[in-house]
Amino acid sequence: MQPILGIVIPCYNEQEVLHTTIKQLSEVIDGLSEKGLISPESKLYCVDDGSKDDTWTIIESATQSNTKVNGIKLSGNCGHQNALLAGLTVAVDYCDAMVTIDADLQDDTAVIKTMVEKFHEGADIVYGVRQSRDTDTYFKKNSALMFYRMMSSLGAKTIYNHADYRLMSKRSVKKLLSFRERNMFIRGIVPTIGYKTDVVYYDRHARMAGESKYPLKKMVSFAIDGITSFSTRPIRMIFSVGILMLLATLSIALYVLISYFGGKAWPGWTSLMLSLWFISSLILISLGIIGEYIGKIYIEVKDRPRFFIEKSIVDGKEEINL
Ligand code: UDP
Ligand code: MG
Repeated sequence: MQPILGIVIPCYNEQEVLHTTIKQLSEVIDGLSEKGLISPESKLYCVDDGSKDDTWTIIESATQSNTKVNGIKLSGNCGHQNALLAGLTVAVDYCDAMVTIDADLQDDTAVIKTMVEKFHEGADIVYGVRQSRDTDTYFKKNSALMFYRMMSSLGAKTIYNHADYRLMSKRSVKKLLSFRERNMFIRGIVPTIGYKTDVVYYDRHARMAGESKYPLKKMVSFAIDGITSFSTRPIRMIFSVGILMLLATLSIALYVLISYFGGKAWPGWTSLMLSLWFISSLILISLGIIGEYIGKIYIEVKDRPRFFIEKSIVDGKEEINL
C-alpha cells in the first residue's frame, strides 16, 4: 500500500495565485502517484484563513471540478500558524504523511518528491531548507537571519532557514497536535517532537503574484511570539542586570563616600546617591526572582507533553507507538 499524502495549503487573500497553485500541486500529486510513490487517494487541503477576496469561491469550485481538492474554511482570520494546524487537524485522519506549503509557491514544489522518498526511507519529519534567498529583499533576508540567531541564542531549537515547508508523518502530526498551547510557534515545536528527521535543500523563488501577507508589523509580532513562547531567558536577564547593578553600586558607593569624606559632597547627596543605587538594584533583583516563578508558571500553564514513546518492548513484545 502506498502512503496517502495530504498537502496542506494555508490561503489568506490568495486569489491571484490560487488557480496556479492548485493546478501545480495537483500535477505534483498525479506525478508522484504515477511513479507509485504515493497513493492515488492523496489530496490537497486548502485552508481559507478568513480571506476577504475570492479565495474561498476559488477553493469551493475547485473541490467540485477536481476530486483531489479538499477545502476548509475558517470562520475568520486566525493567522498562518493556526491555519496550518486547522489543515493538519483535518488531514491527519485521512493521510499517512502531510506536506505543508505556502500558497504563493515560493517554495520549490519539485522537492516534494524528495520529501516523499525520504519518508519512504523512514524519516518521520523532512524539513525543507532554503538554500538561497536571492529573491527575498535585503531587509527580509537579514531580518530573518537575525531572528534565527536570536532564537538559538535564547535556547530555542529551530532549523536554520527552514520555514513551514515540511513533510510530517501521521504519528508526528498527532504529536504536534497534542501540544495544547494557544500560541503555537510550529517551527519551534516540531524539532522537539523527536523521531528520525531529514532535510531537503531548495532555492526559494519570488512570490508568484499578490503581495506578502507578512508585513513588518506581523513579522515582528511573529518573532516576539516565537521567542516568548520558547524562552524564559529574558526574565533571567532582569536578574543578571540587577546583580550587575548591585556590583556597580559598590563602586559608586566608594566614589560617593570618598567625595563625602573629602568634603566635596553637598548635604543630602551622599545618602540620596547611596539609597538610589542600592534600592534600584534591589528592585531589579526582586523582579528577577518573581519573574523566575512567573516563568515556571508559564511553562506549567502551557502543559506541554513531557515525552513521547516511540516504541516499547514489554514481555518480549515490541509495541510501536503510531
Ligand atoms: N497566511 C495565512 N494567514 C495569514 C497570513 C498568511 O494563512 O494571516 C498564509 C498565506 O496565504 C501564505 C502563507 O501563509 O500561504 C505565507 O504567507 P506569505 O507568503 O504572505 O508570507 P512570506 O512568504 O512573505 O513570509
Ligand atoms: Mg510567501
